[in-house]
Amino acid sequence: MAMTDVGEAAITALATAMAEAMFAHAGELTDLDQAIGDGDHGLNMKRGFEAVMAELPAIAAKPLPEALKAAGMQLVMKVGGASGPLYGTLFMTLGKEIGPAPDRQELAAALAAAIAAVKARGKSDTGQKTMLDVLAPVQAALAAGASIGEIRAVAGEAADATVPMRATKGRASFLGERSIGHMDPGARSSQLLVEAVCGVLGGGR
Ligand code: ADP
Ligand code: MG
Repeated sequence: MAMTDVGEAAITALATAMAEAMFAHAGELTDLDQAIGDGDHGLNMKRGFEAVMAELPAIAAKPLPEALKAAGMQLVMKVGGASGPLYGTLFMTLGKEIGPAPDRQELAAALAAAIAAVKARGKSDTGQKTMLDVLAPVQAALAAGASIGEIRAVAGEAADATVPMRATKGRASFLGERSIGHMDPGARSSQLLVEAVCGVLGGGR
């Protein structure tokens, strides 16, 4: 990964790819949330990333740590729901922990800290059918030296693995056993965000 600062063009590409993924899959995320939640996750993420895109020139002009914090602030303010503060915490903690030119180890360490912050904020852990069930295996793969293709595969498998899980956190937990058999919407949005980042870093699909 970058030996020089992650600059304006790269930040623009990363944010745009993540936003486009949320816009393109908003309907799907809403459908997933309709099955085991209240059906707003697609709209929530779309609104959050619309705000990031509206601020993109200012965000991308910042060094990577400040850009991540600024994007996280937009997500906290605009996504709403349970996922807004959690995704906001994820991005803001990444910004706090990462330097302007992270290598793989630095990124892996920052993501570990960001996941820990999400767990603290959500009073949650892996195994509860949430975004953490994608973020944690992706972090582990990153730390273990996985290729971009492998990280993508891990994210996809991790999202799929939420289907048979029973939710014990968030709105889906109200359904108990009936939460089984559906992919967790936040796990899917996390997978899509990881895919988007991998697409930019690895070039294309
Ligand atoms: P809400 O549940 O308030 O309607 P969203 O629909 O935007 O918010 O987001 C739901 C997603 O948030 C879930 O699919 C799950 O992945 C994630 N989530 C909810 N609560 C938690 C939590 N305590 N820890 C981690 N992730 C959570
Ligand atoms: Mg919802």
